[in-house]
Amino acid sequence: MTLEHPGLQALSGWGRTVHRSTPVRRPTYDGGLVEAVLAEPRITVRGAGRSYGDAALPNDGIVLDLTSRNRIVSFDERDGVLIVESGALLRDVIDQTLPLGWKLPVVPGTERVTVGGAIASDVHGKNHPGAGSFGRQVRWLALLRSDGNIVQLSPGQDADAFWATVGGMGLTGVILHAAIQLRRVETGWVIRNRQRTRSLDETFEAMQSLAAQQELDPDRHVVAWVDAHAPGASLGRGIVDEFYGASTLDLPGSVAPYPEARTAASRWRRSLPGPGVVSRATIAAASAARWHLSRSANSQLATLRSALCPLDRADSWPAAFGRRGLVQYQFAVPPDELGVVRDVLEYLGTHGMTPALATLKNLGFDSSAPLSFPIPGWTLAVDLPARWVHDSLRPVDKLVAGAGGRVYLAKDTVTDPDLIPVMYPRLANWQHTRHRLDPIGRWSSGLAERLGLLA
Ligand SMILES: Cc1cc2nc3c(=O)[nH]c(=O)nc-3n(C[C@H](O)[C@H](O)[C@H](O)COP(=O)(O)OP(=O)(O)OC[C@H]3O[C@@H](n4cnc5c(N)ncnc54)[C@H](O)[C@@H]3O)c2cc1C
Repeated sequence: MTLEHPGLQALSGWGRTVHRSTPVRRPTYDGGLVEAVLAEPRITVRGAGRSYGDAALPNDGIVLDLTSRNRIVSFDERDGVLIVESGALLRDVIDQTLPLGWKLPVVPGTERVTVGGAIASDVHGKNHPGAGSFGRQVRWLALLRSDGNIVQLSPGQDADAFWATVGGMGLTGVILHAAIQLRRVETGWVIRNRQRTRSLDETFEAMQSLAAQQELDPDRHVVAWVDAHAPGASLGRGIVDEFYGASTLDLPGSVAPYPEARTAASRWRRSLPGPGVVSRATIAAASAARWHLSRSANSQLATLRSALCPLDRADSWPAAFGRRGLVQYQFAVPPDELGVVRDVLEYLGTHGMTPALATLKNLGFDSSAPLSFPIPGWTLAVDLPARWVHDSLRPVDKLVAGAGGRVYLAKDTVTDPDLIPVMYPRLANWQHTRHRLDPIGRWSSGLAERLGLLA
């Protein structure tokens, strides 16, 4: 049993690999927030704490938790512009706006992240080739700077500061609220086409052919589950899902255009086996079963929200990885470096680190934000028990960096700091802008210090 120090709160990232006992401030109104900020020399900004590692955890100083500032300020149903406080969860935004026929254009694999966290990590969805990332949907944002001043930033109003804040991992200031452009939607349902593939080559081919359609359609989502445990030539066989918005004509007469959010959520919840259950044997068995039990099938109806965020059905996922938690290693490589995906899967397999979960997505746009993760190409995310990892992913860092790729900072706990400037070649520009916004170095985080982002 651990005894908590009075006034300190025990926090971790979603992967439960990094823990801190830290003072936490939760101001609800602007005046209180400014006061709290000016009183503290070192601050780590935190949303819902769904980044996997230490991005929202401090090394020293306090944590500023924004989740109490979660109001929807306004929503204009004519043009779809939402003004929202940064601590609001995407889930609450979707609850309010989807039944009105508007949707967030970009949703990551979970709805349980805040608007502030989504901007600060410039999150991407399964529709990146057509829609780009979250920051692209932001019309303007209000930023509290370390000197206590609040400034409005947009692509046309101090663009450097705007793009340094998008993907800036909370290191330029506190995003207070933002205006986000939503997209019209006809129903809360999608049509899903599923293809089961027999090898990594087949998985790649399926993804590549769907990428071209995705580029033309921001509402077309594609994701592949990859069987990293399949032996020999079957390695990388998988299930490739494509889905796009259903129209009212696609729905059977008895089906309402917008499924009721809460009942749908409880119906989806999936019970997982107990804590620490992830082991090599259980991964192998579960992967084989998943592949064998799936079938290629077209034109299946699913709710938009269950299709976008399947892991929201499995809240206890990190606990299944045992006491030391879960490392998710996510990297992106350019279009012609698909071979790196194969090399990484082979490396993990031959070093006793076959992932419990491996997902592949297409990426499209490059971003104006220097620290934004997505680049045109591919991204693979692998879930690994932390107890297997140690420094053994360093060769993978080298492969990724050597191919012109990068790791995703919002998920990171293990990357070699020396490779960050290689992976993020505009890091020095970002540091320059960051220094202008925060010359006294008030904003910090475990991630920033571990990777030398502030240097
Ligand atoms: C199950 C699951 C699936 C995921 N799938 C995806 C995916 O498909 N695509 C993807 O891109 N990401 C994905 N993620 C990662 C997740 O979207 C990001 O880590 C996101 O930033 C988490 O938001 P949060 O509100 O929990 O922020 P936190 O984890 O609390 O913070 C993340 C970063 O944002 C900063 N920050 C938070 N709020 C503010 C604010 N108001 N002002 C300034 N900075 C702030 C923090 O300082 C920190 O650096 C997934 C995570 C999980 C757990």
